[in-house]
Amino acid sequence: MSINPVSQFVLLAPLSGVMVPLDTVPDPVFAQKMVGDGVSIDPTSNVLLAPITGKVTQVHSAKHAITLVAANGIEVLIHIGLDTVMLKGQGFTAKVKEGDIVDAGQPLIEFDMDAVGRKALSLLTQMVITSGEKVARYTPNTGLVIAGKDIALTLDLAEGIAQTSATADSSGEAYSDPIRTPNPTGLHARPAAVLANAAKTFKSEVKLVRAGQEANAKSVVAIMGLEVQNGDEIRVRAIGPDASAAIQKLSALIISGCGEDVGGVAPKHKPAPLDTIKTTKAQPKSEDPNVLTGVSASPGLAVGQIFQVKQVDIAVVEAGESPELERRRFDQALKDAHQQLENLKSEISDESKAEIFAAHQELLEDPDLLAIAIAGITNGKSAGFAWKEAYNTYSAKLAALKNEVLAGRANDIRDVGLRVLRLIAGIEETAMVVPENAILIAEDLTPSDTASLDRTRVLGFCTVGGGATSHVAILARSLNIPAICGIDEDALNLTNGMPVILDGSRGTLRKNPSEAEVNNIREKQAKQAIKRDAELAAAFEPAVTQDGIHVEVVANIGGIDDAVQGVKLGSEGVGLLRSEFLYLERTDAPTEEEQSQIYIDIAKALGNDRTFVVRTLDVGGDKPLAYLPMPVEENPFLGVRGVRLCLAEPELLHTQVRAVLRSAPFSKLAIMFPMITSLEEVREVKRIVAEEKAALGITQDVQVGIMVEVPATAVMAEQFAREVDFFSIGTNDLTQYTLAMDRGHPKLAKQADVMHPGVLNLINMTVKGAHAHGKWVGVCGGIASDPMAIPLLLGIGVDELSASVPTIPAIKALVRTLNKVECEKLAAEVLQMGTAAEVRARLSQLVD
Ligand code: PEP
Ligand code: MG
Repeated sequence: MSINPVSQFVLLAPLSGVMVPLDTVPDPVFAQKMVGDGVSIDPTSNVLLAPITGKVTQVHSAKHAITLVAANGIEVLIHIGLDTVMLKGQGFTAKVKEGDIVDAGQPLIEFDMDAVGRKALSLLTQMVITSGEKVARYTPNTGLVIAGKDIALTLDLAEGIAQTSATADSSGEAYSDPIRTPNPTGLHARPAAVLANAAKTFKSEVKLVRAGQEANAKSVVAIMGLEVQNGDEIRVRAIGPDASAAIQKLSALIISGCGEDVGGVAPKHKPAPLDTIKTTKAQPKSEDPNVLTGVSASPGLAVGQIFQVKQVDIAVVEAGESPELERRRFDQALKDAHQQLENLKSEISDESKAEIFAAHQELLEDPDLLAIAIAGITNGKSAGFAWKEAYNTYSAKLAALKNEVLAGRANDIRDVGLRVLRLIAGIEETAMVVPENAILIAEDLTPSDTASLDRTRVLGFCTVGGGATSHVAILARSLNIPAICGIDEDALNLTNGMPVILDGSRGTLRKNPSEAEVNNIREKQAKQAIKRDAELAAAFEPAVTQDGIHVEVVANIGGIDDAVQGVKLGSEGVGLLRSEFLYLERTDAPTEEEQSQIYIDIAKALGNDRTFVVRTLDVGGDKPLAYLPMPVEENPFLGVRGVRLCLAEPELLHTQVRAVLRSAPFSKLAIMFPMITSLEEVREVKRIVAEEKAALGITQDVQVGIMVEVPATAVMAEQFAREVDFFSIGTNDLTQYTLAMDRGHPKLAKQADVMHPGVLNLINMTVKGAHAHGKWVGVCGGIASDPMAIPLLLGIGVDELSASVPTIPAIKALVRTLNKVECEKLAAEVLQMGTAAEVRARLSQLVD
């Protein structure tokens, strides 16, 4: 956690009223500052609010005074009225107790103004600092103040007292400062799992606190049940021998987004990613009585027949045989379920999808979920009954949450729950028997159901529950099955066998389509299939234009699976390994050994004839690393990211460069640096590569290149080309920096167009600059996967296209239809255009 060097600390007005100088208070104990320096307020409100965030260390037995301590050790005493101790609590109601953690502005004590005012010497309320040794200067406010809103007192802290830090008391209890949750969709399953895993590494009991509610931070389901939303203020509390260390590490992890890309933008101001704010609720009904609508979960068209899927309930007896026997049954079922999930994971090629089942494995170890089940067993219930109670309690709790993403995870708990329950009950998991050309309709499908769908029979599915971000939807997309979530409930009444057309992209299900409609869809599908087959058949042919120019078509990858798939689809190498994917999901830094093994595996998958361009770590403000605390930046896209971060953390870069270089013998290795803005950066990274190469005794040729994604670098392409081996143009960032539009901004998405002539001319300058010095240029931004842009890029003179893996056969096929000279004429024309719309209109004439 970063320690803020600013040494001011503010206390909010605990009551509304008029500020009164402390030395004028008619009580020498306060006026002479015997208790401490501070302020007094003549109150007009009767609920005392916390002036700071901190821990309640004392509530006086007469309830007229309270002491709080802030995370930095500043201790505040607030004393309501003068001589009020005599009232022995009459007229005072404490809202908190000792040991509570409170937020600034949270009610502490309510008092009856009339009753107290009549009996006490005065209602003047004193707020004094009892840890005066930590304060260099007091600046009291004057005039009227509003409780919880205005500042009553500003402290200049003595040297060495940080404004933020973790606090630990002698009993081994520590708590963090309040942290605003940066995750766009709050602490949903994935960040919750990262946090719970990190919490489990500490011996201390660790709690997450939100608005007075606490959850076990070692339990994923408990964290999700707390429903922490983007921008919510939370704290970590730890009790035990390593409490302070737990607070430090977990606070940093939460601030960094728990492995999630949190954009570094102030929470609440950052819109949630578009696909996470889609809702499954209240989809407008279609005007056409034959069309049922829902949310697009996975694109694609399917013509088939309805097949209704009904969930079966597994009956359990309540009473157990003996707690020992039931416990043994339960433990065995958990073990077997773990193994089943392991098998399922290995059947899914896409690692990020396999993670869904890894998360299910974690649920099997969730302390809160297990605690409920084990308590039931100890109380004489059967293993099945106790477990069913446990997972139903939690899934119902999650399903009721307002946050759609969290509510969607109730289905994951039911899925794991059923898996274990089947094992306890000795019921075999049977694959659904479905007819040919089936379009499944279900209340909900579990991720396991989805992963095990028979693709030869199931053409698509619709669920009443779930949403576009549900794991079922993610799986459907990876399995390439058209799907709709949140479909109109009427779908559950459609009869089996009814012919339908499912349009996964539009989220519509058409009942009883006419023959003409079916034919139309079938024709479209057939054409697409023929084209795709032809592209696949020629996938291994080089991409050579009609006039004989070879364009290298390579893959953008995030890991070994993409590399293997890319080779299968005819990729001629890797133009961009986004190496940060190897770091982002982790809570600790990978060792050099771990990293180099990954690079070696990928290099071996490519072989010595294919290029392997590894981009060094591109993290920073917008992609934080859980284990590398970074200050939150005002504008992270313009902050310490990419190579800037690596040069600020040279050990990180040296380790990565060594790990990458160790894969040099296994493919044609090139190292590329992101976000390069200056020649000084280029010289420094080249020096590091040369140093590590010599140290490792690597003799192979390793090219060193840079990403061109900052306009200054494109403009100075000639100067850069003199000093590097190649460029790869990152058009995603180049577009955002050229047009000054955040690449993830939902409102500017249309205008942040790579086809803007400003961006295209910078691409052109980059290519010309490189070629002037005999260097090659690739494009690895999204434009290289867009068929419409390919003739233009070829015309500009781009030598290599690094595209997303599934598009490779189509891009290669397209290049083979083009004529380089014609493309050059097209580029000359397009580069003169004034708007992106004109460019798009012209380019769309060339593709079907
Ligand atoms: C780009 O900016 O175009 C690029 C390829 O890098 P990334 O999308 O990973 O930032
Ligand atoms: Mg980039």
